[in-house]
Amino acid sequence: MDIELIRSHFPILGRKVYNKPLVYLDNAATTQKPLRVIETIERVHKTINSNVHRGVHHLSDVCTDEHEQARFKVQRFINAAHSHEIIFTAGTTASINLVAFSFGEKFVHENDEIIISALEHHSNIVPWMMLCERKGAVLKVIPMNLDGELEIEKLPGLISEKTRLIAVGQVSNSLGTVNPIKKIIQLAHSHNIPVLIDGAQAIQHNKIDVQELDCDFYTFSGHKAYGPTGTGVLYGKEKWLEELPPYQGGGEMIKEVSFEHTLYNDLPFKFEAGTPNFVGIIALGAALDYLEDIGLDKIAVREKELLEYSTRRLRNIEGLVTLGNVPEKISMLAFYLKGIHPYDTGMVLDKLGIAVRTGNHCAQPVMDFFGIPGTVRASLVFYNTIDEIDMLAEGLLKVKQMFS
Ligand code: PMP
Repeated sequence: MDIELIRSHFPILGRKVYNKPLVYLDNAATTQKPLRVIETIERVHKTINSNVHRGVHHLSDVCTDEHEQARFKVQRFINAAHSHEIIFTAGTTASINLVAFSFGEKFVHENDEIIISALEHHSNIVPWMMLCERKGAVLKVIPMNLDGELEIEKLPGLISEKTRLIAVGQVSNSLGTVNPIKKIIQLAHSHNIPVLIDGAQAIQHNKIDVQELDCDFYTFSGHKAYGPTGTGVLYGKEKWLEELPPYQGGGEMIKEVSFEHTLYNDLPFKFEAGTPNFVGIIALGAALDYLEDIGLDKIAVREKELLEYSTRRLRNIEGLVTLGNVPEKISMLAFYLKGIHPYDTGMVLDKLGIAVRTGNHCAQPVMDFFGIPGTVRASLVFYNTIDEIDMLAEGLLKVKQMFS
């Protein structure tokens, strides 16, 4: 990989913060955008902007066509069997809420059970909790161990004839742990239980094949995969999407409306009420094209190198405690300096131009499990460099000096 060339695709990486070069290590919160995405947003607004699926005029036709091309791109990117299994949403949170509401409405009743894991982001906890409250159902949790791995051997004991769905993240956003989702899916299916995978922290790092995984639902956000904010995907197997009731009502999701009766539209439109974020979705297509051009296999190799180097570099810092040191993880480091609050660490790093995340990372149960208020999270992607990791390590030494 020609990293200098790659970095030139991301204009923001060239900027300074407090007159120091920006070191952007908060990629798990949102990734930066390549020019191809930025230019697509501008091009659509400048040349073809028109509401999709509605007009008979030229612009609407062209814009609709590009919007639907983006659906094919997502289909190809995750290897879905059909393009109508791709529902566009506003992001992972919106996708999970859609399933929790729609699936919950039809299939979850009093005393039924939903299983999630101890490693989930709040977006894959709260919608299920709200569903359980609505329906009088029960939320069960796959526990984790102190290494930050799920205790998957406990899952069979949690499954019962009342289990209606299992929802787990593929990769933890707080530790970077890769969960054994294939095993979970196989076990769930042996009991005829569908599985939703939260892929928000996975899609941008490795090739995803939903048919190979055999998951029933897969969700991700565009903005964490180099695409625009306000875009997201819900993949669902056709057989489920056909059965589920619509989530929101409005234009586009109907075939016929009278005051007595509504006939819902076919897939995927049944789940896409209102004007979609068509500019964003077309630009999401551009982001996926960009990733395919670079190659997800190359990205995985590069990010593994960055993970190995940064793990070694941080291990040498006395008093630095890392969490989630497991063999299967993405390029993310979760840590704290003994006796120094993560916020203080983050603030000092910020003044050095280094952007990291501090706090509970929307995974408060994980922090509670470790008995800590939060961590510092450095999340690296292929455009990060060895120099930047060195700057992080040097910055951490400065933090230690300041607080010692
Ligand atoms: N799940 C995981 C694992 C995440 O990391 C995030 C974002 N931090 C979400 C869900 C929610 O994504 P969004 O805010 O884009 O809807």
